[in-house]
Order: sequence, then C-alpha cells, then structure tokens
Amino acid sequence: MADTIFAKIISGQIPCHKVYEDDRVLAFLDINPLTRGHTLVVPKEPAETLDKLSDESAAALGRVLPRICRAVIAATGVAEYNILENNGPGAHQAVFHVHFHIIPRPSPNEGLGLSWQQRSLPATEASELVKLITTALQKTP
Ligand code: 5GP
Repeated sequence: MADTIFAKIISGQIPCHKVYEDDRVLAFLDINPLTRGHTLVVPKEPAETLDKLSDESAAALGRVLPRICRAVIAATGVAEYNILENNGPGAHQAVFHVHFHIIPRPSPNEGLGLSWQQRSLPATEASELVKLITTALQKTP
C-alpha cells in the first residue's frame, strides 16, 4: 500500500482543514475545491478503492456521511450537492486512498459537471447480469 497524501494527512504529517474526526473517519476540505464547501470524507483504513474497504470502515463512513452532508448544506446554504467516489485512475482517481467527495452544486454551472451517455438495457443482457452479480454476491465475502 503506497503512503498516499491522505495517509499522511490522517497521521498528522501533513496539515488539513479538518471538519470531522472519529476513530475510523476523517473529513477535511478539498485543497482545490470545485465549489465552496467541497469536502472529502476519508476512512482511516488505507484501502485503495471502495471494494477493498472493510465492512467496519464502510459502516463508519455510511453512518457519518449524511451528517457531514447536512453540515455542509448548513454551512454553505446550498441544498444540492453531488457525492463522488472515484475508483482507479481510469475512473479519475488521483489519490489512491478511498475518499468520498461532497461537492455543493450552487448552480448548473458550478460544481460537478456530468455528461451521461446512457444506453438502453436489453432484457437478455439484464438477466445475464443479474445472474452474474447475484452469483458473485453469494461468493464474495
Ligand atoms: P480523486 O480524483 O482521487 O477522487 O480526488 C482527489 C482529491 O484530493 C482532489 O479533489 C484534490 O484536490 C484533493 N487533494 C489532493 N491532495 C490534497 C491535499 O494534500 N490536501 C487536500 N485537502 N486535498 C487534496
């Protein structure tokens, strides 16, 4: 596991603008915010991607994420926001330590720009995928 910038922030080697901390989770302001209030919520466990995170850290994140969202809404006065969590360099992950972005969306031109290129889901593909994923879920701890 590489010693990422977030591991150094968690250990206190590098400073951050901390907004929340408990035994398993740290939240701090993004150093290059897309919008005012852009916050990162990070498990202390050094998992590279979400699929590698323990259930304990996942539960701790899930417990606190909505609360931090409410605090960002209250602080910014912006009720709309995106949660972003990138996994892998091809999916725009730059820091290889799990982190959830809370990105306020004050207007259509500010915040996370999304370009969805949706396609249809043929019934045969859907049933094949359901079979594959449900089988994998039974095998995956
Ligand atoms: P990713 O693309 O990996 O999902 O996003 C990484 C985020 O970490 C970026 O939004 C970037 O601005 C932020 N970031 C990178 N280095 C630092 C740092 O040293 N301190 C803080 N607070 N944020 C950082």
